[in-house]
Amino acid sequence: MTVPYSEPTGKRGDLAAMTKWLVFLEQREGVVKQSSIDAWNRVQELAASRPDVAVSGLLAGPASLGHLEGSLAGKGVIAHAKDECFRLYNQERYLRLVADILNREGAGSLFFADTVLSRDLAPRLSVRLHASLLSGNPIFDDARAADDGGCRRPVYSGSFIASFAPRRPLGIYIIASRRTPSVDYPGARIAFVDLEACAVAGEALFPLVRRLAMHQGTLDVAEAGIIVAGGRGMGGPEDFALLEQLARLLGGAVGASRPVVDEGWRPHAEQIGQTGKTVAPSLYIACAVSGSLQHLAGMGSAGTVVAINRDPHAPIFDVADYGIVGDVHLVLPKLIEALQEFLKKG
Ligand SMILES: Cc1cc2nc3c(=O)[nH]c(=O)nc-3n(C[C@H](O)[C@H](O)[C@H](O)COP(=O)(O)OP(=O)(O)OC[C@H]3O[C@@H](n4cnc5c(N)ncnc54)[C@H](O)[C@@H]3O)c2cc1C
Repeated sequence: MTVPYSEPTGKRGDLAAMTKWLVFLEQREGVVKQSSIDAWNRVQELAASRPDVAVSGLLAGPASLGHLEGSLAGKGVIAHAKDECFRLYNQERYLRLVADILNREGAGSLFFADTVLSRDLAPRLSVRLHASLLSGNPIFDDARAADDGGCRRPVYSGSFIASFAPRRPLGIYIIASRRTPSVDYPGARIAFVDLEACAVAGEALFPLVRRLAMHQGTLDVAEAGIIVAGGRGMGGPEDFALLEQLARLLGGAVGASRPVVDEGWRPHAEQIGQTGKTVAPSLYIACAVSGSLQHLAGMGSAGTVVAINRDPHAPIFDVADYGIVGDVHLVLPKLIEALQEFLKKG
């Protein structure tokens, strides 16, 4: 298995002397995750001011590449481990695959999108490879930060910002997905290189394969561009039908606060916050969510925030762009009706 990480254009000078960053791209059911596309684009944005940096990627598992046309920015080579053995996440196999590519390429920084898989794989890699690991949406002050330290991260649920510098030669970063608008990147030069053989796979030492089945047609909250989130104030599980209806009309996903998940009203996969998922949709509609620090920790990067709450002093209004003071059971049906009318006309 050889991975020729050469520049597609060959114009960027001596590749061996360059600083190398690797971005891990994840697929699910053969479709590359939006959060991985966002991570790639975010890293490319950082690298744009660094002519000495070569960005490359690793896509694990068979996936169709057609829909990526125009959605990946910048330049670079993406090694595609398309073997069936990488279709489902297997800790040991994935670990060996990433370690192998990192080893042969000598990348100094490895970037993951913030997903359930990366939260499992990245810490294992950091232990195996003696690498520094930084999760929780690091902010890079400038593009040098990824190599030299100097990146910052919110701590204590966003109460403080702390500075971090990697102590090891390899830095692993889990970056929050920041939804990039669906722009076209016509100037991008991305080449895919197939990794045909499953050479690094070997026998799975830990043949534990977990597959989380989603309801047919349900959008993963971490991938959604629009989220309609419900809090404890919704009242009960049956009241989430309103949120499902609104999410469907908007083409978005339903999210939930922790008490809602603890009560068993919604699955944990929908939980947003410190102990749930970190999301960055372009529109976040918070319904009967108070806006605790732990909840905000998961949606602080959302674009436009709309809050509906009957308490005018609820902290969620401090971060909302638009606020509606009122009972969700009165406001939501009106909102849904107005939206239906609007869509009918449109
Ligand atoms: C270590 C730790 C980790 C945590 N992780 C998370 C996490 O990942 N995610 C998370 O969300 N929380 C998390 N929490 C819990 C967090 O502290 C809050 O308790 C939680 O976010 C509150 O959820 P809520 O807003 O749904 O409920 P509440 O705080 O009870 O707020 C309900 C809101 O609904 C409003 N309301 C009530 N009825 C109506 C109505 N009919 N119409 C309109 N508004 C109404 C109320 O005014 C209130 O503002 C964590 C806590 C700890 C200690």
